[in-house]
Amino acid sequence: MNSTPHRDDNSFISARPGHSLLPAPFSVHYHLCMRLLLVEDEHDIQSFLRQALAEAGYIVDVAPDGKTAESLAATHPYDILIVDLGLPDMDGINLILRLRQTGVGAPVLILSARRSVDDRVRGLEQGGDDYLTKPFALAELLARLRNLLKRNSPQAGEPTRLHVQDLELDLLRREATRSGQPLQLTAQEFVLLEYLCRNAGRVVTRSMILQKVWGMRIQPDTNVVDVHIYRLRGKVDGSGRQPLIRTLRGVGYVLKDR
Ligand code: CA
Repeated sequence: MNSTPHRDDNSFISARPGHSLLPAPFSVHYHLCMRLLLVEDEHDIQSFLRQALAEAGYIVDVAPDGKTAESLAATHPYDILIVDLGLPDMDGINLILRLRQTGVGAPVLILSARRSVDDRVRGLEQGGDDYLTKPFALAELLARLRNLLKRNSPQAGEPTRLHVQDLELDLLRREATRSGQPLQLTAQEFVLLEYLCRNAGRVVTRSMILQKVWGMRIQPDTNVVDVHIYRLRGKVDGSGRQPLIRTLRGVGYVLKDR
């Protein structure tokens, strides 16, 4: 891959069992302060990456299985995730799907021993943002993480706050307020509200919401969107506020911009 030459490109190592690694030099990116969730059950890779990523400036949490990953992701706002596909309790692809369904929008780098084109395509289609096969070079892993973070961070000049009437969304802190009053939203409700805000004044259909917020391409026989809109409306429009979320029966929803 074409990445900008970087000091740590010299540290070209593969993570192999039995090697406790980390030769110098590593360039340290303490300015990043990015929180990373590493989902990996192989102990050697786990401890190698935990140390290497910490030295590269990431705040690293490690989950050895899918269940732990789900509970960590539900309580911590991660900036990026590394997910192994062969986990003891579930397939990594299923984990990614489940995380996406609960509103985890952070980029996911799949790290897997499965090398076939089919596996890679499937991983990328099911919510992974990049795919790296084992054994891997640390320099390449770090470069891919940087690229994913760059791709997902607001571009220079791009707003980090959205305003619609008296509603304000802080996209960096993932916080929403109405007339300055904080709204207690779940991660998924925030993603849904962000999508409505970005399309304020326009009608969004259920299938658009399913695709953008839940990553589902087909409309399943489910009222998941209606249920979430109902809860979101309770929080955004409750307490006698001027209603912002309007339902167009049989069509979808619109966030009123005036
Ligand atoms: Ca594994």
